[in-house]
Amino acid sequence: MKTINLWINGESTASGSKETFENFNPATGQVYAQVALGTKDDVDRAVQAAKKALHGPWGKMPLRARCDLLSRVADRIDERREEFLKAEIADTGKPIGLASKIDIPRGAANFRIFSDMLKAHGSESFWQDTDDGLGAMHYVTREPIGVIGVICPWNLPLLLMTWKVAPALAAGNTVVVKPSEETPATATLLGEVMREVGVPDGVYNVVHGFGKDSVGEALVQHPEVSAITFTGETTTGKHIMKSSANHLKKLSFELGGKNPAIIFEEADIDRAVAGTLRSAFANCGQVCLCSERVYVARSIFDTFVEKLKSQAELIAMGDPWATTTTMGPLISKTHQQKVESYFKLAKEEGAQVITGGELAKLEGDFDQGYFVKPTIWTGLSEQARCVKEEIFGPVCHIQPFDDEEEVIKMANDTEYGLCAALWTQDVSRAHRVSSQIRAGMVWVNTWYLRDLRTPFGGMKASGLGREGGIHSLNFYSELKNICVKL
Ligand code: NAD
Repeated sequence: MKTINLWINGESTASGSKETFENFNPATGQVYAQVALGTKDDVDRAVQAAKKALHGPWGKMPLRARCDLLSRVADRIDERREEFLKAEIADTGKPIGLASKIDIPRGAANFRIFSDMLKAHGSESFWQDTDDGLGAMHYVTREPIGVIGVICPWNLPLLLMTWKVAPALAAGNTVVVKPSEETPATATLLGEVMREVGVPDGVYNVVHGFGKDSVGEALVQHPEVSAITFTGETTTGKHIMKSSANHLKKLSFELGGKNPAIIFEEADIDRAVAGTLRSAFANCGQVCLCSERVYVARSIFDTFVEKLKSQAELIAMGDPWATTTTMGPLISKTHQQKVESYFKLAKEEGAQVITGGELAKLEGDFDQGYFVKPTIWTGLSEQARCVKEEIFGPVCHIQPFDDEEEVIKMANDTEYGLCAALWTQDVSRAHRVSSQIRAGMVWVNTWYLRDLRTPFGGMKASGLGREGGIHSLNFYSELKNICVKL
């Protein structure tokens, strides 16, 4: 059986306690690896290594050399693409079609983009007139914050981790990563890549384990970790905020969502159906940006529901390595049970099940996998728990609406504010409605079209701060104003 170790100070290492935990392949439901279970002492070992690197070769390295090394990390991920794919697919069960287009190449691209961005970035400067007529010059420099704790979810393991690690390292920090306990493999593989390309020991560390009373909490509470960057559930974000308060750590949070998709009557209905098929069911609904609430103009409601149903029923589940598979399993048995509990709740709340609403039974090697059917409900009240709570599975509820004002109100009636997708051919409406949606990102006639230079993040309970482009670099830097009086 495969063992996945911690990665501390440039080497693969067992946990101090020698304990391990099991890692399941969600497509087969079988244990495929044992993972080293980190301890509080392991977290401290990693933080000390990160601190030493910060004050050693990494801290002294010129920006250009640092950025060149990070570009080589991207190249090396590309060269070892097959191993990264194998690791990510074993951990998540996601189809090769998805992992090979999104997870691995975009994980590599993060290193290229943030190193290029930092090299190209200038700085603010201001000339100030003074009473003596001689003036003063202000200019701003960018310094690393220190050791950054990186806490990651399981839905896009490499992509979301490197989205934090790449700008953190480009800005000169060192990191201790706590991957999700469900998906430890690619984070450790990245340690090997860092060493191969010559990133100094201690710059990138990985400690595996759980959240509460485990590695996650130890990292958050470590006095020498200066900032925490976290992606995960809103409730976990609240815990982290409380337990990091004593040390006033800098925090960046990407949290949950209950995102609306709105289809107006003038929309190109086939494009809207294809887009909503993606936005509701991509990655088995396990993307924070997924549309779990779909609002459709009453005049096209029946046609839209029928078309989405027939497309959803064509989704193929099964062997993640088969190019014909279009949807994988949920991440774990526990998550499958959670989604199943919403299938039951939806019926109790009065939903009409248009399609799905049950576990998917597969044959052969995959009969123990955590598969569920893509599910569409109608008929729920806007106050139903299935319409209010983030489910994080391949589910959506479709509600009809009569006018723009009403649908904006319904879309905004949520504690979350991550994103929205609008489908319309009316340009004025696109701008008018976008400006009234309380969410960090609005897509019009598309969904999840990302440009890494743009701000990414949520309003309200969906997050704190923004990632992407200069927003990431600013979070991972201390800005210093230097004023020189002439
Ligand atoms: P989670 O909050 O359960 O876990 C995320 C990470 O936090 C894991 O590594 C976990 O071990 C750790 N953790 C848990 N409790 C902790 C604690 N008390 N202290 C420190 N660390 C702790 O989330 P998940 O189930 O892995 O991911 C799914 C969630 O992530 C969904 O809510 C989804 O919307 C959200 N998400 C958001 C974004 C975004 O960009 N907004 C992106 C992806 C996922």
